[in-house]
Amino acid sequence: MRKMIVAIDGPAAAGKSTIAKKVASILGYTYVDTGAMYRAFTYYVLKNGIDPKDEKSSIAVIDDVNIKLEPDGRVLCNDEDVTQVIRSNEVSKNVSFIASYKDIRLALVKSQRKMAESVSVVMDGRDIGTYVLPNANVKIYQVASVKARAQRRYLENIEKGIPCTIDQLEKDIETRDYIDSHRDFAPLKQADDAILLDTSDMTIDEVVEKVLEIIKEKAGK
Ligand code: C5P
Repeated sequence: MRKMIVAIDGPAAAGKSTIAKKVASILGYTYVDTGAMYRAFTYYVLKNGIDPKDEKSSIAVIDDVNIKLEPDGRVLCNDEDVTQVIRSNEVSKNVSFIASYKDIRLALVKSQRKMAESVSVVMDGRDIGTYVLPNANVKIYQVASVKARAQRRYLENIEKGIPCTIDQLEKDIETRDYIDSHRDFAPLKQADDAILLDTSDMTIDEVVEKVLEIIKEKAGK
């Protein structure tokens, strides 16, 4: 079987990880949630009393952080299970500052590339098709309206017991997108050769089906 690299990028809360996880499971590929890695690093910074807006102090702890994405979906930070806590409002509000620091990105990108070296992967993030894996076989840029994204994230958060309001989520999503797309190094943007997928009016099953169709077509080439 041919080794396949599938990159799914797009703005915050566009449903990338839901789709990437399902597609990876159907195809037997490894799913890599790069956002979880930036979130875990942010959690570590906050836990150690460092201000995430302080670039120098945040970079200083790079070598102290060991992030692992387990096959069962758990995220470990120095062996602590941070799967739930990295979804908290505090981490969400601060992660884009941490993700704008080049040295932190370079460290995480190195392990992301390693994860895609020998197995087929579906990797989701902001810069996978443009920077991390520019030779990916399939590149998808998944978008949805801010309203649709806030509504979906609201339902997810309520299910997980994370308190929030739709208004606040809309603001947070817009702020995060702005910082992510305006940073100097590897910003959020659609790769020239990525397929744009607007999922505002699509169900999860419809998006999964569409992505599988795209992968099948590319795999046959
Ligand atoms: O995908 P998720 O929303 O969990 O990502 C959290 C944050 O991590 C993003 O808003 C962005 O700041 C950062 N990120 C990134 N590059 C990636 C993945 C995530 O900058 N490849």
